Parts: sequence; structure tokens; C-alpha cells
Amino acid sequence: MDFHPNEEQGAIREMAEGFAAEELAPFAIEWDQAKHFPVETLRKAASLGLGAIYTRDDVGGSGLGRQEAVLVFEALAKGCPSVAAYLSIHNMCVWMIDRFGADALRQTYIPRLASMEHLASYCLTEPGAGSDAGALRTRAVRDGDDYVLTGEKQFISGAGSSDIYVVMARTSDAGARGISAFVVEKNTAGLSFGANEKKMGWNAQPTRTVTFDGVRVPAANMLGEENKGFNIAMAGLDGGRLNIAACSLGGAQAAFEKAVEYMATRKAFGAALNEFQALQFRLADMATELEVARTFLWRAATALDAKTPDATRLCAMAKRFVTDASFEIANQALQLHGGYGYLADYGLEKIVRDLRVHQILEGTNEIMRVIIARGITAKT
Ligand SMILES: Cc1cc2nc3c(=O)[nH]c(=O)nc-3n(C[C@H](O)[C@H](O)[C@H](O)COP(=O)(O)OP(=O)(O)OC[C@H]3O[C@@H](n4cnc5c(N)ncnc54)[C@H](O)[C@@H]3O)c2cc1C
Repeated sequence: MDFHPNEEQGAIREMAEGFAAEELAPFAIEWDQAKHFPVETLRKAASLGLGAIYTRDDVGGSGLGRQEAVLVFEALAKGCPSVAAYLSIHNMCVWMIDRFGADALRQTYIPRLASMEHLASYCLTEPGAGSDAGALRTRAVRDGDDYVLTGEKQFISGAGSSDIYVVMARTSDAGARGISAFVVEKNTAGLSFGANEKKMGWNAQPTRTVTFDGVRVPAANMLGEENKGFNIAMAGLDGGRLNIAACSLGGAQAAFEKAVEYMATRKAFGAALNEFQALQFRLADMATELEVARTFLWRAATALDAKTPDATRLCAMAKRFVTDASFEIANQALQLHGGYGYLADYGLEKIVRDLRVHQILEGTNEIMRVIIARGITAKT
């Protein structure tokens, strides 16, 4: 057991922290207010190897593991949780193509995704199928050498800006066992996008519906085998959940550090806030919870790297625990700023808004409990 990043991992984390401090944090509030998706900044991150972190290097990936990824996403989210979280979704899609795509597909798509010349989106959720993703209705019907896709996807991060869409669609009526995964290019006829949704947070990245109206996709663009797409989608989400948890942790760590700094200078009743023991105790609890969350996140990342049988369950536990704890810590940090925490310029309210959605997406925290409980009750 080793609870310390090794030398290489430490250097990767330092590099990501430097990038976050210089390229994300100074602009995060502005991007949130302007609803600006900083694609050029993402490309700079990709030039450091962050566009395809745990993808094989023969196609331009960095060939790292999940432990390195959680260090990177925590570091980036200290600068902006919303931009870090989009990068996490992009990395999930690239990994799915690398892991399940035929070699020709990997060679065709991954180099430009690794450099982020092309961006990727993950299309699972539909208007009538969110938590119950296995009930999705977008159809993919075989026609010669192609499949023809018809249906609608809801809440797709990066949609409209992304060039590549990893799409889960129904190829048979056998529930979750009748779904296949496809790589769809943006410029394909019949593909269209809704308006950018107005959201509580995550404003530095677009969220749109994606409509498929007879979209013709080569059969060679299928990931893995026909009707195995649900498993592929879930495999992507194991790592995605670790990364989203890491994004929550980075946001919470940044909020905590802001609170510590603020409390050293803000005075009330003739003393600095950090001289009140009740508030010192609150900081002590926040610091402890950050450490617990981080340590458990590393444990789950180690399990996914090692492909242990309990990895999916540990990823669900990490997503549930870390995103809940981090949201509470960020909210406490806002409270410790008093009224100033509620003002946009202090950056706290943005972190709270950004972290809130991590309890909902990539499987709600209720669905994480469903996954965890399944493992417990199945043994009895
Ligand atoms: C900003 C944003 C970005 C997103 N990005 C993407 C994306 O890029 N790609 C993508 O595919 N999806 C994306 N999503 C969709 C997200 O994954 C879904 O919103 C989420 O899975 C929940 O689905 P739903 O919204 O349909 O809620 P529902 O499934 O309708 O759930 C409603 C409530 O019921 C609870 N619930 C449902 N079933 C159960 C159960 N069996 N037991 C206990 N509680 C239950 C849920 O936890 C929730 O609280 C995004 C969502 C948002 C808000």
C-alpha cells in the first residue's frame, strides 16, 4: 500500500496544477458569466498530453492510468471544475474508442482527439431514459454496410462544438442487451443540435440535445460487437465517475483554501474569524473530509487500474461519497465567507453551482447507491 504519488505522478500533478493556475483560474469567472467554452485552452491542455490521458500511445495517447487521471482532474478543477469536467468526458470517449474500437477506427479518430483538434461527446441520455439508460429508444437499423440512426439524445455535454459523438443506440429489442455503440461524425447528414441549455452551473461548456434523423453511419464505426454497447457505455462511466469525483475534489479543495485565506484576514467581534474555535473546528472537519475523499478516490482508481472484480462498485462508491462530501465542503466555504461568498467575484458561488451537478450526472448518486446495494444484496 502506498498513499503517496510517486515521483512521476507528482510531476504530472504539478504540471496540471501549474496549467490550472495560469490558464484556467484567472478566467473561470469570466467564462462562467459569458458562457464561453474555451476550446483553445483545451487544446493547450492537450498539448501537455491531457487530451488522451489513459489512451495508448501508438495513436497519440499519453498511456497513463486512472491514478494519474484523478491527480490531473483534481488539479485542473482547482482552476475551473466545469472545464476540467468537459475534459474528463472527452477523455472518457477517447478511451472508449481506444479500448473497444477496431484498429482502423483508433487510427482514424484518436490522433486528432488526442490533440483536441477534434472534441468528443458522450451520447447516452435521452428525454425518456436517464437513470434507466437501458430503456433508451434511439434506433440503429442495419442497411447494407451502414447503420441508420434515428432518435434524440438529451443533456449532451459539448454537443454542437464536438466533432465526434460516441452514441449508444438500440439494435435489438432486448433491453440493455440490445444496445450498440457507434462513433458518429458531426458533419453527417441528419445530425442536428438544440439550443445551448440555460443551466445553474457548468456554464463554461455547452449542453444541448442531439437529434438523429436518418443519420447514416458506417458499420465499421461500431465499437465492439453488436448489442454490447451498454457494457461499453458502463465501462466508460467507471472511469468517468472517478474523474467527475476528482473534479469535485479539486473544486472543494480550492473553496477550502479560499476560506482559510479569507478567515485569516476577516475580522468580527475584534478577532480574525480563524481565532474562533467553532470555526477552527469546522476547518478541521473540512480538511479531514477532503483527505478521506482523496484517499478513497485513489483507492478506487487503483482498483480500476488493476481491473479488480470490485472496481465498478468502488468507482460508484467514490463518485457518491466524493461528490457529496465535496459539495458540502464547497458550501461550507461559501458560508464561511458570509455575504461575500454569495457574490460572483469571490468565486465561491460558482464552485458550489458547478459541483452541484456532479451529484446528478454520470449516474445520479441514488443510482450509485443502487449499484453498491446490488453487490451487497446479491451475496445474501
Ligand atoms: C449539465 C448536464 C450534463 C450532462 N451531460 C451528459 C452527457 O454528456 N451525456 C449523457 O449521456 N448524459 C448527460 N447528462 C445526463 C445525466 O447523466 C442524467 O441527467 C442523469 O443520469 C439522470 O437522469 P434524468 O435526468 O433523466 O433523471 P431521472 O432518471 O428521471 O431521475 C429523477 C430522480 O429519480 C431518481 N431515481 C431514478 N431511478 C431511481 C431508482 N431506481 N432508485 C432511486 N432513485 C432513482 C434519480 O436519482 C433522480 O433523483 C447530463 C446532465 C446534466 C444536467
